[in-house]
Amino acid sequence: MIIAIDGPAGAGKSTVCKILANRLGFVYLDTGAMYRAVAWAVETGPMGCGKNGAPADLRLREVLLARELRFCVENDRLGIFWGEKRLTEELRTPEATEAASRISRLPEVRQFLVEWQRRLAREASGIVAEGRDTATVVFPDAELKVFLTADLKTRAKRRFDQYFEKGEKLCLEEIEALILARDAADSKRAHSPMRMAEDAVFLDTSGLSVQEVVDRLSQMAKRF
Ligand code: C5P
Repeated sequence: MIIAIDGPAGAGKSTVCKILANRLGFVYLDTGAMYRAVAWAVETGPMGCGKNGAPADLRLREVLLARELRFCVENDRLGIFWGEKRLTEELRTPEATEAASRISRLPEVRQFLVEWQRRLAREASGIVAEGRDTATVVFPDAELKVFLTADLKTRAKRRFDQYFEKGEKLCLEEIEALILARDAADSKRAHSPMRMAEDAVFLDTSGLSVQEVVDRLSQMAKRF
């Protein structure tokens, strides 16, 4: 079974999808991390990417052709590697976030990652895929599609709390502006823009706790 959950930054997708996948015994596929990994490789990774003076489009071609970037499923989670190096925290920096949004516009990046996403899904008996296009493009035949969102203030506050936990202090207005800019970039791009699939369930998580959102999603999943 495939559950595809799309929505904008700060809607709570990662938090609830992890718990939902765990509850159902499904694989949790964080497609945003895959875009972050390509962005990291192009901007700051090894192979001289970003350091050898080559223009960004050539570095990107190198990254996509090199086959050093690999994705796998381990313990129902996505593992991301550059060669033998496991990528984790380096994908969560504000620079990786910004670069991921930029490179995600490129059709060759999307094609490369969508192929990986479908390949990973074929290996799993159940999957919770989270992203911007998982219901519209990657898994159009998913049994359950949900568009998760929340109002801007709620989304900004959630991001604020996450940064705060990591010891990073950004002001709420600054986060709101970053979120709005990312929403605009993700929904206005020519290839696979973020939009709600026609057959998706719309779920506004403003004012709902994580537990309440997971419970609602579990109820929906039980119908299949
Ligand atoms: O979800 P996350 O914040 O990790 O995603 C980082 C960026 O990757 C997004 O802003 C978006 O531009 C891109 N992305 C995408 N399609 C996906 C997942 C993420 O374009 N399925």
